[in-house]
Amino acid sequence: MAEIQTEVSVDHRFARLRTLLAQVSDLRSAASVLSWDQETYMPPGAVEARANHISTVRQLAHERFTSDEIGTLLDDLEPIAREMDPLSTEASLVRVIKRDFDKAVKLPLSLVAAISEAVSHGKDAWKYARQANRFGDFAPHLARLIDLNRQKAEAYGYEDRVYDALLDEYEPGIKTEQVEIIFRDLRRDLVPLVEAIADREEADDTVLHQKFERQKQWDFGLAVIRDFGYDMQRGRQDFSTHPFTTTFSITDVRITTRISDDFLNPGLFGTLHEAGHALYEQGVDIELERTLLADGTSLGMHESQSRLWENQVGRSRPFWEHYYSRLQRIFPDQLGDVPLDAFYRAINKVHPGPIRVEADELTYNLHIMLRFELENALLEGRLAVADLPEMWNAKMDDYLGITPLNDAQGVLQDIHWSLGAFGYFPTYALGNLMSSQLFDQAAEELPGLEGRIAEGDFEDLLEWLRTKIHRHGRKKDADDLLKDVTGRTLHAGSWLSHVRKKYGDLYDL
Ligand code: ZN
Repeated sequence: MAEIQTEVSVDHRFARLRTLLAQVSDLRSAASVLSWDQETYMPPGAVEARANHISTVRQLAHERFTSDEIGTLLDDLEPIAREMDPLSTEASLVRVIKRDFDKAVKLPLSLVAAISEAVSHGKDAWKYARQANRFGDFAPHLARLIDLNRQKAEAYGYEDRVYDALLDEYEPGIKTEQVEIIFRDLRRDLVPLVEAIADREEADDTVLHQKFERQKQWDFGLAVIRDFGYDMQRGRQDFSTHPFTTTFSITDVRITTRISDDFLNPGLFGTLHEAGHALYEQGVDIELERTLLADGTSLGMHESQSRLWENQVGRSRPFWEHYYSRLQRIFPDQLGDVPLDAFYRAINKVHPGPIRVEADELTYNLHIMLRFELENALLEGRLAVADLPEMWNAKMDDYLGITPLNDAQGVLQDIHWSLGAFGYFPTYALGNLMSSQLFDQAAEELPGLEGRIAEGDFEDLLEWLRTKIHRHGRKKDADDLLKDVTGRTLHAGSWLSHVRKKYGDLYDL
């Protein structure tokens, strides 16, 4: 009798945990709807009111999540969950959410308030410093944000490197040293490759810089991502200044795009990129709805999905063998006389430039490496804030062979540090590497994949990603997932062979 009672009460406790987490999930989704509206349709006069709405709902979500009841349930259920199948929803729920919970309660409220205050001033200071092109105006704010990030890392705790604690927020499980080793491999091969290409004749991409009617761009992008498998019954696309993907539930995953009427790339590749993020979220097992596990497992893994569809698929030759004639029919005056080869070369032009968000597939990772190294040096006190611009420019010269004209085009270009986000940047590059590792594995397991892409048939690829990656949500950490799917932990090899082959062909190396 007693045993039966224990089991009932375990079931009851799991059920209670799920109910409480569902409420947290609902509150977070409500805040996301408010943010989505803010970025898409909200009238500009509502900025202050909306900030209040979002802040109140987020505060409620935080209070509910960090409640004693959830803490006690997690503690009680932890030993029971450890005996269960680790991939069961119950066991995953306790394991992953306990980690979130411990983090959420580790930061003293005074530190949370200090960070929020520093970010609010830092963001403004950064905006004006960038406009005025004066790093000195932002420097004291940056110094403060670095100090607060150190305090945050101390509060979270770490064994080895201060950066580990911060990286863990975005890429759980991976260590700074591991990233350093991966980036070292990457740099060794990538810097000479970029140099060799810089010595060649630059690809001509003027065909992409013409007038392209916005509505036609919009329609073409949507047609492609429908072919990818983006489900419009459970999603939609709108315009925003900065494209993003947002999820309110597995049945409502939205993307935004921006379209330039005199440059084809931002609209087209931005749409494919966000669709990659959205396919991930739409592919999570419905069983995980309202559990807080229905999300990408890390920022890097998320980025691997967007980059896979944007670059491995959308910038590949087979893809354009299928879609180019259609694009030519849509834009006959602009592209009618441009051969496929010339178009393919144009969309894969390599051009080392100062700005990260404008970087091509090949040079992008070098921008990230530079930021990762500088972040580490700043946090570990090996680099003074005052010396940052000089060091930035020296590394730009080392890696890309260029010197930014000014701080606005150099050290002040990104918003991330002003938001207090340290440890975020490497996830972009890790995502690029993961995308290749996964795509290679898919190609191995799906014979004829390239041929099917050349027919505009993505069903197998999406199904493979759904089965191997998407459905798990946050149940498996990124590196474990990679090991399970590809047999190896994260490494730079796949991506390096991908770019060596692709750009070797394009530039006759
Ligand atoms: Zn992305």
